[in-house]
Amino acid sequence: MDKIDLILDTCKKCGNCCRDTIPLISDSEIEVWTKNNDVEILNNIEPYMRWHTFKKKNNACTFFDGEKCLIHDKKPESCRLFPHSKDSAIELDCDLFDLLNK
Ligand code: SF4
Ligand code: SF4
Repeated sequence: MDKIDLILDTCKKCGNCCRDTIPLISDSEIEVWTKNNDVEILNNIEPYMRWHTFKKKNNACTFFDGEKCLIHDKKPESCRLFPHSKDSAIELDCDLFDLLNK
């Protein structure tokens, strides 16, 4: 099994990473969405500390429909790199950190 298959197999599809975290968005990602005129994405961005993030809906990321990411192909790198730390993996009951850091 290659690494991608292992990741897909290990991810429980619980959605905790979209429900209980805040994706960090960089200026360069905003530039790309602006260039591509991704209006729906741009309209759902708000400032967060020295970064940006997506607005929330029912306390989850606005692009989480309860089962999946509605902008999967365009989601920020911080979503692709989740979980960022052992602590966040434990907090959200995610096994991917251990898999990716063996
Ligand atoms: S929290 Fe972890 S196991 Fe759950 S959906 Fe996100 S990546 Fe998958
Ligand atoms: S952009 Fe997609 S993957 Fe990232 S937190 Fe929102 S719903 Fe989840």
